[in-house]
Amino acid sequence: MSVATRSNGQWALGEREPLNPNEVFKQEDDGLSVRARIEDTYAREGFASIDPTDLRGRMRWWGLYTQRREGIPGGRTATLSPEELEAPYFMMRVRIDGGQLTTEQLRVIAGISQEFGRDTADLTDRENVQFHWIEIENVPEIWRRLEAVGLETTEACGDCTRVVMGSPVAGLSVDEVLDVTPAIEEINRQYVGDPDLSNLPRKFKSSIAWLPDAAPEINDVSFVGVQHPELGPGFDLLVGGGLSTNPFLAERLGVFVTLEQVPEVWVSVVRIFRDYGYRRSRNKARMKFLVADWGTEKFRQVLETEYLKAPLPDGPAAVKPRATMDHVGVHDQRGGGKYVGLTAVAGRLSGSKLEAVADAAEAAGSQRVRLTPYQKLIVADVRDDAVDELVETLDAVGLSANPTPWRRTIMACTGVEYCKLAIVETKERAHSLLPELERRLADISPDNPISVHLNGCANSCARIQVADIGLKGQIVTDDDGNQVEGFQVHLGGRLGQEADFGRKLRGHKVTSAELDDYIERVTRNYVAGHAEGETFSE
Ligand code: SF4
Repeated sequence: MSVATRSNGQWALGEREPLNPNEVFKQEDDGLSVRARIEDTYAREGFASIDPTDLRGRMRWWGLYTQRREGIPGGRTATLSPEELEAPYFMMRVRIDGGQLTTEQLRVIAGISQEFGRDTADLTDRENVQFHWIEIENVPEIWRRLEAVGLETTEACGDCTRVVMGSPVAGLSVDEVLDVTPAIEEINRQYVGDPDLSNLPRKFKSSIAWLPDAAPEINDVSFVGVQHPELGPGFDLLVGGGLSTNPFLAERLGVFVTLEQVPEVWVSVVRIFRDYGYRRSRNKARMKFLVADWGTEKFRQVLETEYLKAPLPDGPAAVKPRATMDHVGVHDQRGGGKYVGLTAVAGRLSGSKLEAVADAAEAAGSQRVRLTPYQKLIVADVRDDAVDELVETLDAVGLSANPTPWRRTIMACTGVEYCKLAIVETKERAHSLLPELERRLADISPDNPISVHLNGCANSCARIQVADIGLKGQIVTDDDGNQVEGFQVHLGGRLGQEADFGRKLRGHKVTSAELDDYIERVTRNYVAGHAEGETFSE
């Protein structure tokens, strides 16, 4: 007797019945189609005219999320209605595939921030820029200005192919063999905004880089440079990485992909996800769950037989870095000159500061800037004789090329300031924590900087599971029995060689107010007890 199995909403198996509210609205109308309504109606008639399903659903396909109402504290927001929780303003995310910007584009971003976003402009750890305080009336004009210089918000959020991360030093690094920029540009040109790929089971994250510096372990699909002994330079292919509440490291399929094949292989992986991905529970809809269930052997077989219609050769594994490749500091650039990596604390910048970056870059002979997966910024093509002045000028606006180890590694998500899901404050807490750590631990210099990442909730926008000290925002009980903002601590996570997730130790919870004491204590214990050359996670 056969036992009927429950549908997971896998389209390739004929399971087209929508199984959750997101699948219902996506089937009723594509996320991309909301743009016409924004331009024709919502921007003219105002926030109150926006259909709720568009407001909290489809507008993400154009990089727009409503922002948290001011003054609503973290925790216990479940009792609030969406209307009570959200302000009539938007976070707007600009996708910058490959993290590459010209100074002209940077000036447009800076101008939008100053004119329409109360001078907000945060760098994310996925090479995006985010504005806040955006009003619906201004969205069409913002799009017009962005698109006039080749920028976009298309599919910057939503169940679709988000920004394609690249190496921030693609085309600049002396260690690079193949520059993947043409492949990323081809993917952007052909597939971003393609209605054939705009209804995926959930978000889909990509990393394509010769150097292993774009977090390949934690993306849905990643290509990393390898030298094949017979076939020459090409790429190792990894699938199924992702963080959030169920973290998975991406796994190698064991194939070799040439630079020319990257766009075709990339879109084939996306199509597998579209067709076979799970569409029942949102918590099980990321591609990592499909990869975990299938295993890499089956995934490779489906990729080759059903999608590519040809086998891929076996290939070697990419070399993994031992230390974080954040590119901070002054570096020799391929072909001459320097590129300069700069740290803004936890990615917080502003339109005014981005304008200062564009000014300083151009004064140093540069028209190219890069954003990195570590919330940092790089100025490329700096003349040798202009490096010192550029470093000094940008240091004065809070962008350091010679940061302390703590300034260099601290990262934070958006947090309670703007994010409706947040439980605790993160960006401002990172800013108040930093000088304390610099002061208290000035006598200590660990062999490797210790990374501190702060998340405002159980999602992992600041990648807490792969930080030395990862802090997941939650409400905790303080010594007096009060419910206060705090963090669950994860210790010893890392990317690169022996990539692993931090351990969540039972009872390792700390109030936000005690964070300085806690990190000082953990750091001093580590420095006192570790062998020479041993990293925090070891
Ligand atoms: Fe918001 Fe949570 Fe992401 Fe932080 S981790 S930006 S609080 S969803």
